[in-house]
Amino acid sequence: MRILIAEDDPTTLLMLERAVASWRYDVVSVRDGNSAWEILRSADSPPLALLDWMMPAFSGVELCRKVREESEAPFIYLVLLTGKVTTQDIVQGMEAGADDYVKKPFDRQELKVRLRAGQRIVELNETLRLHATRDSLTGLWNRRVILDTLARECVRAAREGTRVGVIIADLDHFKRANDSLGHRGGDAVLVEAARRMSRVLRSYDAIGRYGGEEFLIVLPGCDAACTETVAQRMRQGVQEREVETPESRIRITVSLGAVVGEGSTINADELIRIADAALYRAKRGGRNRVEMASSAPSGSSSTARAMALRDENC
Ligand SMILES: [Mg+2]
Repeated sequence: MRILIAEDDPTTLLMLERAVASWRYDVVSVRDGNSAWEILRSADSPPLALLDWMMPAFSGVELCRKVREESEAPFIYLVLLTGKVTTQDIVQGMEAGADDYVKKPFDRQELKVRLRAGQRIVELNETLRLHATRDSLTGLWNRRVILDTLARECVRAAREGTRVGVIIADLDHFKRANDSLGHRGGDAVLVEAARRMSRVLRSYDAIGRYGGEEFLIVLPGCDAACTETVAQRMRQGVQEREVETPESRIRITVSLGAVVGEGSTINADELIRIADAALYRAKRGGRNRVEMASSAPSGSSSTARAMALRDENC
């Protein structure tokens, strides 16, 4: 596990670095509050931090307060390192957001067990976060997170004048597969299809499980050609060879409906509605197909609705 050590006294810092590294933590160390804040504020900050109370720029206590109020990191366990040990000091430090404190000069054994306790909290927190955001079967984003992602990307695209590609993918004849293979077989099909579709995505694209055998894909910045290419690669990836299930093997295919949203009033619900209508056309057109809807208009929602209805009728 990574840990940040912020300590301005070179001798103490060296002792801390040696001790902590010997317990198999990956150490990042800095010597003032400002450098510590640059690391702690970012989304990929180490999840554990050992902060000296008295430092140039920001003190350890100020850092605790800033982390709790302003950092983008999901969670950081903060341990204050201090020569101040009156009850009042401890209360002040914990109220600022510290999780624990260690007295200076530090005792190696005590520091070790306190960091282990912090590590347990970090790991538990990470497990809870995974459960809250991931689909437990496929490991993809769950419905809530992928919908949040789409909403956020719509706002960003509207603000920056860019686009967002949206694909809804639905496995063909999944009920039939589930009936013939049993639920374990059906689960294996879902897991493998999810893996094959994820493989074609860029690191900043997102895919989530939208419903039973339905998946929602969000492609920031993608125009129609790019969105269609991704959808076709997903379609090909899913059908390319049979899926092994616990008891047999089966060929699977997927139908996909896609749309690109752009303009200042782009709306997540409308994009889903239009992509869904395109998916319906892909199903009716024989399955194992990609259907692109014309780009979602940036005009009123009634225009978008009329368009979705027209798509459904064709
Ligand atoms: Mg100091």
